[in-house]
Amino acid sequence: MNAPRPPALPFVDLQAQYTALRESIHARMQKVLDHGQFIMGPEVAELEARLADRTGARHCVTCASGTEALLIALMALGIRPGDEVVTTPFTFVATAEMIVLLGAKPVFVDIAPDTCNIDVARIEAAVTPRTRAILPVSLYGQPADMDEINALAARHGIAVIEDGAQSFGATYKGRPSCNLSTIGCTSFFPSKPLGCYGDGGALFTSDDSLATAMREIRVHGQSGRYRHTRIGLGGRMDTLQCAVVLAKLERFAWEIEQRQRIGRRYDELLRPLAGIQLLSVRPDRTSVYAQYTIRVPGRDAVQEALRARGIPTAVHYPAPLHRQPAYAGRFESGGDLSHSEQISREVLSLPMHADLRPESQEAIAKAVAQSLA
Ligand SMILES: *Cc1c(COP(=O)(O)O)cnc(C)c1O
Repeated sequence: MNAPRPPALPFVDLQAQYTALRESIHARMQKVLDHGQFIMGPEVAELEARLADRTGARHCVTCASGTEALLIALMALGIRPGDEVVTTPFTFVATAEMIVLLGAKPVFVDIAPDTCNIDVARIEAAVTPRTRAILPVSLYGQPADMDEINALAARHGIAVIEDGAQSFGATYKGRPSCNLSTIGCTSFFPSKPLGCYGDGGALFTSDDSLATAMREIRVHGQSGRYRHTRIGLGGRMDTLQCAVVLAKLERFAWEIEQRQRIGRRYDELLRPLAGIQLLSVRPDRTSVYAQYTIRVPGRDAVQEALRARGIPTAVHYPAPLHRQPAYAGRFESGGDLSHSEQISREVLSLPMHADLRPESQEAIAKAVAQSLA
């Protein structure tokens, strides 16, 4: 007889989180089933108040997804065909996709290789009279260089949208991600650091008129019932999903601590290994490690070797967006993009979640060492 296989190691362990929060999640969801206000029920306002409070932003507006948050942010700023938005090509597609969807052009600026966030030193050269906004991404859970980006944007009189889909809960100089610029956007996709059980997202701003615009755009541009004063969309977050996030907030602070402890432990375990490069978290900020990502030349072979050892990994992202077929002819290059190209061939994300056990982490690090050999 074969020995029983060890239980598969998950990349993100939503099951362990659910087990820990089962009662609160059930109670919260049951309450929604009982009151029956599935759209814009009381949990929506409750979650918005909690998240606004957490970030310090005057307004939080929940919406259907992180993608929708980006779209609503761009629409609230009045981004139109012919406008340019400076962003990074090394991100999830939604960042640039929503710019293109509005008929505007993403202007891609390369990344800093130590963090994989947009290289702030290269932004100025990419700004033109058509630039209407800068859209940095706080990739892998670490805020971008927001002060420098905000200062540059202020000099040009343009807005800054932080794509904080991966960084909710992180801090920058002690201030919370998603409240670091004109508008912050996040996602509650199940595997994000703060996730729901479906799609969800949120926008943050301290600008009252932008908040009004965002709330109206979320519901078909309504300023009153059946009074449509602007073009909007059906972009609400379900009450049930808000209830799930409210339950998950109960141990979110603990989860962030665990993620950071696990991130530091990976650094310790992997730093001695020749053949891989660690990314860095800058000393003035924290990461929530939406991903724990390393750089390794010959990545595909290492990933295959890890798969053979039962270690799931992922690649965020295998190609920069200027190399994606749909974007041909739809973007401008804001300078040389070679870091994005090189790094997309090297990045490898390892299992990361708050319930990752120390012995599993040691086993992962050992498997990485063996896979490099
Ligand atoms: C996940 C993600 C999004 C999109 O969020 P969804 O909720 O999946 O629509 C946008 N930008 C980045 C950087 C992301 O990681």
